[in-house]
Amino acid sequence: MPEGKYIFVIGGVMSGVGKGIASASIGKILQARGWKVTAVKIDPYINLDAGTMNPLEHGEVFVTDDGDETDQDIGNYERFLDTNIYRSNYMTTGRVYQAVIERERNLEYGGKCVEVVPHIPLEVISRIKKAAQLIQADITIIEIGGTVGEYQNILFLEAARMLKLSQPQDVLFVLVSYLPVPAKIGEMKTKPTQTAVKMLNSAGLQPDFILGRADRPIDEPRKEKIALFCNVHKEEIISAPDTDIVYEIPINFEKDNLSEKILKKFNLEIKPINLADWQTLVAKINNAQTGIKIGIVGKYFETGDFILPDAYISVIESLKYAAWHWGIKPQIHWLNSDAYEDSQRITGLADCDCLVVPGGFGSRGIEGKIAAIKYARENKIPFLGLCYGMQLASIEFARHVCGLSGAQTTEIQPTAEDPIIHVMEEQAEKLAKNQYGNTMRLGEYPCVLKPGSVVAGLYGQLEITERHRHRYEFNNNYRDLLEEAGLFFSGTSPDDQLVEIIELPANIHPFFVGVQFHPEFKSRPLRPHPLFLGLIKAGWALQKNKNAKIL
Ligand code: GLN
Repeated sequence: MPEGKYIFVIGGVMSGVGKGIASASIGKILQARGWKVTAVKIDPYINLDAGTMNPLEHGEVFVTDDGDETDQDIGNYERFLDTNIYRSNYMTTGRVYQAVIERERNLEYGGKCVEVVPHIPLEVISRIKKAAQLIQADITIIEIGGTVGEYQNILFLEAARMLKLSQPQDVLFVLVSYLPVPAKIGEMKTKPTQTAVKMLNSAGLQPDFILGRADRPIDEPRKEKIALFCNVHKEEIISAPDTDIVYEIPINFEKDNLSEKILKKFNLEIKPINLADWQTLVAKINNAQTGIKIGIVGKYFETGDFILPDAYISVIESLKYAAWHWGIKPQIHWLNSDAYEDSQRITGLADCDCLVVPGGFGSRGIEGKIAAIKYARENKIPFLGLCYGMQLASIEFARHVCGLSGAQTTEIQPTAEDPIIHVMEEQAEKLAKNQYGNTMRLGEYPCVLKPGSVVAGLYGQLEITERHRHRYEFNNNYRDLLEEAGLFFSGTSPDDQLVEIIELPANIHPFFVGVQFHPEFKSRPLRPHPLFLGLIKAGWALQKNKNAKIL
């Protein structure tokens, strides 16, 4: 088999310019030309994975089928490429160093002095190649985290340089840069991008393409300037203007013939492009009717003066796919669980057509979440609880329907009177030893659904697999009691030991489902997840009902 091709995507000027979406979109257009594509994310931090990081700082922790806790960009790759990405496709500085040190301890370097260069970049290259070989990818996109010029990602740039040196025909570099239009100047400025290219040059790399992120397309005079000062041809500068719909970005890139230009440089056949599904999706999004109001009760989105939805990105995207599927524009309402701690203040909820309580950890805001769930249950607002959301829905039911006022999770009250949610047996030992990293129940596990349940109707099958990330579980000692009071345990592990899904029957509530797993990690733009489809459908029906009453 001929060597695969590699495209390194590197950020210039500042973080947050959308390297992840750009990488996923480049992958998408090459895939749409019939090439087998995979994507690798490199994070420069020392952490071995994203699992122990605060979502407010780092955004969502994404979970792969094989149980890796990764950066949210792996989620972007899965969603754009509609393929599963595995542990092999994610690396951090910590992971790379750990592997090299382990190898040294095992005498695998044959007595050599093990050095930062070349041994660290060589390990990076070998990991990239392994990820490519795993699916026999023709083209591998490698996104290097951080911004060119910073200290942290320098060894990854070095790996890119070394790979280019040994396989010059197989490696391309894309710089995703930012072009500001300062309000007082009123003109798009190219100097920061020129400086970014100079810094890239000083790492021994020359960009093959520059993707210019800006609030508008790059005009001809600016393209000429960038071309001249950055040593690229004008056609290698691709406009990447802001867009409300990220799924439009691959289509925008194609307006500049990006996939053709890349394939030409690689000397690969330019097969016809097929983006028909994607174009239909974008048309559907643009034609969707006005909105369904979706409340998300969370605590990881307010930082200072800003609302950053990054911590819930997979949940938000899953809600969007489901809404678009039904031809509706989703309107997300952020409901801060801290503000609901005083249950008198559940104001925004009454306006919502449906409610999601996503995953979470710890005690902050949980009484607010429980109050919101109670409101949704009593007022028959369609509700979907994800992981912590399911656990808190069980506690709410135990407290307010079964009268167990001391119902709680031992995560925040180890001596709870009624530990409705308790630590999983194998987890207690790990917690006692402070072993927090990569030790949760992670990744894909099977679940069996009860015939006739709401969820069985939605999935259209009785055996499913879903991705998990938790340490606590429903306490089986309370199963009978809650069941007698009307809660239906409609999904369990195949051995029936672990509650995976709770629901209220359809004649009691229009949609009340809580799941111990994270369906948001498996929802894809063209294949929305059945649970989100069910929620949005029920929410839409509720809105129509409300409107009918007003008329
Ligand atoms: N904190 C809960 C647990 O560990 C829920 C985790 C989550 O929502 N991902 O079980």
